[in-house]
Amino acid sequence: MISHLLDFLAPRFCHYCRTYLDSQEYLCALCTEQIRPVLSTILKITRTQKISVHAVSAYEDPLRFLIGQRHEYEVAHALATLIGRHPIVSSLSADFLVPIPSDERHGFNRSYIIAQQVSAKSGIPIYYGIQRIASPVKKPYTWYEQVKKAFEFTDLSALAGKGCIILDDVMMTGATLQVVAQELIKVNPKSLQAVVGCLKLKG
Ligand SMILES: [Zn+2]
Repeated sequence: MISHLLDFLAPRFCHYCRTYLDSQEYLCALCTEQIRPVLSTILKITRTQKISVHAVSAYEDPLRFLIGQRHEYEVAHALATLIGRHPIVSSLSADFLVPIPSDERHGFNRSYIIAQQVSAKSGIPIYYGIQRIASPVKKPYTWYEQVKKAFEFTDLSALAGKGCIILDDVMMTGATLQVVAQELIKVNPKSLQAVVGCLKLKG
């Protein structure tokens, strides 16, 4: 129902190259072809623990361009739809999706919009247990320390013994995923992995 409504509201031009589209799509066929297939990586969480991170696309255009449009509500929906319809999403199996909240300065939370699409396609409910603190801490803290101070966690005990998937729009350094995963493993989930829209590969 909601996705039908979004389709109806979607403008008929490619969000990346601005080509006119004669179908209710967000990207033209050529730009869609440019999305490189699923990439997965292993992210170290603690000295002994690692999680798998699955990505819908490499951190490159056209998704990189959409990721950069943080203030555009409509682009957030385009991104969410593109991520939600990716084959990796329908194959996900877990008890909860745990979105990492986005900066809400633009009046909406992009991660939650993505999470709603992923939840609709995968049938996995969303667990809202992480809060982003409004003003990020800057120097003299390291990037990792800044990220650590940017989040607060409410009661995560409902995730004990459950299969959890952390969701984020993009993984750059991996610091945000590390901070969140370190907090989640404290309650002993049955399994823990992550899904991101774009993954920036090192090197
Ligand atoms: Zn295009």
